[in-house]
Amino acid sequence: MGNGLWGAPRETRVIAATFRGVRDVIVREKPEPRIETPSDVIVEVELAGLCGSDLHAYRGRELGIDAGTTLGHELTGRIIATGGAVERFRVGDAVVSPFTTSCGACGPCHRRLSARCEQSQLFGWIEGGHGLEGAQAPLVRVPLADATLVARPKELSPLEALLLGDVAATGFSLAQRAGVVPGATVVVIGCGAVGLSALIASRELGAERVIAVDMHAARLELARSLGAIDIDAAGPDRRLREVEEIARDVSAAAGRDAVGIVLEAVGSSDATKLAYEVLRPGGTMAIAGVHTEPSFAVSPSRAYDKNLTIIIGRTPARSVLDDLIPLQIARRLPFARLVTHRLSLADARDAYAVFDAGADGVIKIVFEPR
Ligand SMILES: [Zn+2]
Ligand SMILES: [Zn+2]
Repeated sequence: MGNGLWGAPRETRVIAATFRGVRDVIVREKPEPRIETPSDVIVEVELAGLCGSDLHAYRGRELGIDAGTTLGHELTGRIIATGGAVERFRVGDAVVSPFTTSCGACGPCHRRLSARCEQSQLFGWIEGGHGLEGAQAPLVRVPLADATLVARPKELSPLEALLLGDVAATGFSLAQRAGVVPGATVVVIGCGAVGLSALIASRELGAERVIAVDMHAARLELARSLGAIDIDAAGPDRRLREVEEIARDVSAAAGRDAVGIVLEAVGSSDATKLAYEVLRPGGTMAIAGVHTEPSFAVSPSRAYDKNLTIIIGRTPARSVLDDLIPLQIARRLPFARLVTHRLSLADARDAYAVFDAGADGVIKIVFEPR
């Protein structure tokens, strides 16, 4: 049943982290979200994540987002209002949310590819007036709530739930789809929250050796403490070294003909080239990094000559959660160790700047909107 409170004409305002332009996030007042369609719920956000892919809009690498859009697509919280068609949830329920909505009924949803649902929308992306507001706010509207959301079991902490909805689901499904098996040697390129989640998942799936590449000391240190061999991609001047030079270090650490799987969590031409260089013939390059270049950095003929398997695309987080939530409850994988900062929404402008600069040992920033 709908909650009459939300139908009442009133204009309450809340503060939210909004996009104003490139490298310009501003915390400002916005109208409180309301139920708009019968499948909607309104979630009071307990925790909202700042994701590496929020930086794509911030840096102007991904264009099109409208000024004024509330940012953020990682959330967990409690339902405070439901539309008339919502059947699986009630006011007060705690929920885990994937970063996109999905209907649960179309072809891609049935094939466990919820990220490509015919009605999929990404939280925090409004373009030309169409799209969905984000979760870096005290309240967020979730359409298609019955199919999109998952009840948060009491065994899961809110922090675990937040991470499972995006970075942990992405890292885990990346390792799984790449075919990490016991004894495997795996290279992880990029040790942000997704790369480190892929590292944790690779260990869980039995990888014997994980080699982690990044250029930030705090990330490499955490990678090491999670059981990886760490390779610094930066030289003494802290700039990225030549790809061939990094590849030589990776190969020396891995051993000859050892690297069958690369998990790429950066999304750049250099990352693609490095992945190609270190893979043995017949290897798999699994890509979670969001690529915005016009063409692939490895030519088709070179891919052919190495019998490469390439896996790429947005994670179907809703589909992945069906397996990942029970696994997390059973295994308590240490995803929460990735969180370096817990901040209030009022700090969002600085948080984006710190995250963008890779300053202050940042790996994962989480907002507490209440
Ligand atoms: Zn994300
Ligand atoms: Zn669907």
